[in-house]
Amino acid sequence: MSRDIHLTLTDVSHAYGDFVAARHVDLEARAGEVHCLLGPSGSGKSTLLRLVAGLEHLQSGRIRIGHREVAGPGIHVKPEDRAVGFVFQDYALFPHLNVLENVVFGMPKALPSARRETALGLLEQVDMADYASAMPHTLSGGQQQRVALARALARRPQIMLLDEPFSGLDSRLREEVRRVTLDLLQQAGVATLMVTHDPREAMIAGHRISVIRHGRIVQSGSPDDVYHRASSPEVAVTFGPINRIPAAVKDGAVETLFGRLSTDLPDGLEVELIFRPESLRLAPLDPTRPADDSHPVAAEVVTTSVEAGVQRVGLSVGPGLDIEALALAQNPWQVGDRLAVTLEPNRSMICRRNET
Ligand code: ADP
Repeated sequence: MSRDIHLTLTDVSHAYGDFVAARHVDLEARAGEVHCLLGPSGSGKSTLLRLVAGLEHLQSGRIRIGHREVAGPGIHVKPEDRAVGFVFQDYALFPHLNVLENVVFGMPKALPSARRETALGLLEQVDMADYASAMPHTLSGGQQQRVALARALARRPQIMLLDEPFSGLDSRLREEVRRVTLDLLQQAGVATLMVTHDPREAMIAGHRISVIRHGRIVQSGSPDDVYHRASSPEVAVTFGPINRIPAAVKDGAVETLFGRLSTDLPDGLEVELIFRPESLRLAPLDPTRPADDSHPVAAEVVTTSVEAGVQRVGLSVGPGLDIEALALAQNPWQVGDRLAVTLEPNRSMICRRNET
């Protein structure tokens, strides 16, 4: 399968009556990659999947699969002609068909024996060949999910749509089924669009993550981008704890505790310096050593707690200014310790204040 086959949405908007569920969405999913749509319930994620699948008629914008436009002004390719597979949360196997029949159903027309063989091959890939004649209701959630995946792959899709596919599974099973599913999709060179409301899952599964709020993509990037280079405090906090320090832009830079950081934001703008607790380096304060270019900040430990070998350290860095750091707990810091705190380079985010 060609590596350049992928999914492209261009300026897609969609409303249900007066309610706008997708606003000017641009996104891409590349062959062999997973693009995660992350957002709370009702933010418009599933609407985008349904538009790609062709279950909704697109109102505005364009959708291409490879070089073919499947939805756009005057164009609506039927769902069965789009080379799209989908797996939703409730698996939706046909209850009156056994596992093999479920996978064979909907396969491209071919000799019955060839379809059977292909289906068995797919069941082997998801480790379910031994259950070929089992009925769906006798299977566990994880097994049903793997059969649903084999059935979706049987259509030889170029695009796979996954809507919260692992959320019905308990946590131990979820990791295993997720790994099998994503490995298989990558091997098959399928471009995957996956909906989740779980930031951790998006970080694990996604090559790219688009954060959605109220039908709009507020940031799209690699897991590293959204984690360390969030465009707003709201996106930053979605992926884990942050420290926030108010600041202002002056002469193209922000003067911070940790030194002067340049920014493209306009002069006079109220901003926040944002950084993760694990982006701080802690060392005992040596009052005889002058501050160097890496701008160590003098701090005092005010709180500590330990969880799973990691120490959470509350630090006072100025009057009324407390931040949090993470440290390995082998030699834990004590309340009252005086420390020199450094912020790792390229680990700070400057965001507009009060942005939602
Ligand atoms: P998500 O997948 O992020 O939970 P959806 O795309 O399913 O969000 O829905 C976005 C919003 O659109 C929700 O508020 C939902 O109530 C509304 N919605 C979804 N489908 C329909 C529909 N067929 N008719 C009317 N409103 C709908």
